[in-house]
Amino acid sequence: MEWGIKVDISADLCFTTEELPQSYLIKIKNIEGWKNLPEEKEFKEAEIKIEFRWSDYISKEKPWYILLINSGNGYDKVGIYREKDGEKPITILKKGEWSEKIYTEIDTDKGRKRVVFKIKVVELSPDGENLKIYFTPLCSLSGFGFPSGIEKEFENFNGLPVPCSFYTSNRLGWIDIETVSELIDLQNEYLGECAKYLLKNKEWDLFFMHAHCPDHFYHPFINEIEKDKKVEEAEKKFYISLDNMLGEILKSIDEEKTLIIITSDHGAVPTQEEYRETGFDINKILEEKGLIVTEIDESTGKKKIIWEKTKAVGKLSCYVYINLKSKYSHGIVEDREYEEIQNQIINALYDYTDPKTGKKPVAFALKKQDARIIGLYGDRVGDVVYGLYPETPGEHGRQITTGEYGIGSMKGLFIAKGPNIKRGAIIERTIWLTDIVPTICYLLDLPVPKDCEGAVLYQIFQDPDFKLKEFENLKKNYERVKKAIEAEKHLTHNY
Ligand SMILES: [Zn+2]
Repeated sequence: MEWGIKVDISADLCFTTEELPQSYLIKIKNIEGWKNLPEEKEFKEAEIKIEFRWSDYISKEKPWYILLINSGNGYDKVGIYREKDGEKPITILKKGEWSEKIYTEIDTDKGRKRVVFKIKVVELSPDGENLKIYFTPLCSLSGFGFPSGIEKEFENFNGLPVPCSFYTSNRLGWIDIETVSELIDLQNEYLGECAKYLLKNKEWDLFFMHAHCPDHFYHPFINEIEKDKKVEEAEKKFYISLDNMLGEILKSIDEEKTLIIITSDHGAVPTQEEYRETGFDINKILEEKGLIVTEIDESTGKKKIIWEKTKAVGKLSCYVYINLKSKYSHGIVEDREYEEIQNQIINALYDYTDPKTGKKPVAFALKKQDARIIGLYGDRVGDVVYGLYPETPGEHGRQITTGEYGIGSMKGLFIAKGPNIKRGAIIERTIWLTDIVPTICYLLDLPVPKDCEGAVLYQIFQDPDFKLKEFENLKKNYERVKKAIEAEKHLTHNY
């Protein structure tokens, strides 16, 4: 797998009579070998294999069985079974219905694992010929907590600890957008429940959490929001879902005494229609300028880089790395050539014109040694750092952080509430992510971390000098106490 989300047991699954990408194709046939089925009903069956997707585990599960039930007016129910016994269904569902949460054990190559998941019957035709069944990710119930084992305390919380594979399942044709919204709600509800529990039951000074939902939603859907009412609706719904989660969390703290900060590390932008066809492939640009040399790998039929002839390669969202002899075993560029290659890369980026739009997508390209002007330095930063204009391909990652296009904006969100924080004010100054930690430390009288680089956000305070006044008061009080002690001394002999 080139990339993916590693879930503990399995990403979501789809069992269907329709040929859909990454799904399991089921064959419906007449029933055979079942026991305990009522005689007056009509049935069909299918066998399914639980094969894990995007997983570190290999499934060792025996086949499961699907029973299609005709209660009199066509097939209207689906039962899921681990053995052909009508009295032991995992769940029986109507079309469009979600199961309750299913807690069970699954056989994997690393032993039996306890999981929780839900099942939805997405499609069921009355003739029992068309069927689509969706399984949420098989969510692991242990192995992800720190301190180890704490996740066991979360086992029965509302919602579901679903990882994010389901956002793309709509694109695979597995589930409709309404089901995506339902899954988002399950995920946010679970996160909110965990937060509430920890805040109420554990001692804490600083609580922080992360909800990735907006990022995951915008990647597959941002270009559809304006075209499709249902997607627009789903966008609203996820904000409502996050808002509900937040509302629940805030109920478990003392809002008057607690500093609350909500922030995002970036926004998202749609891609200009014409740009969507061409994309932006940094390595193609470098190859055209001879900085990358490739050949066809005979075993896979795919292009592969010939490192012995390649001078630089694009990696991550916005970096180009130079194939330095002093740094890599396959390196070919001498240290003395470093800056010259940096210049060649920068020229290649600025020379590039998108063939469909006629636009220059590159907003800036900087040598690593100059990237300090945007706060970047250190071993892992690319030898060239570049940024694209907001309407270029992709939702975020390489778009410049001030970029705005269509309904989107790359600007992040920052909200603060608490003692000494202004109410209802909109701050004009630029807020950098690096400013958040020193601001928290300043407000809460905590020591700043060793590598802290940001500045205190004085403009969010009701009185930017409140610390100074606090200090002046302390000084005054100290003097008063000192004088009082001295005065007391003189009331009697001190010898
Ligand atoms: Zn993202």
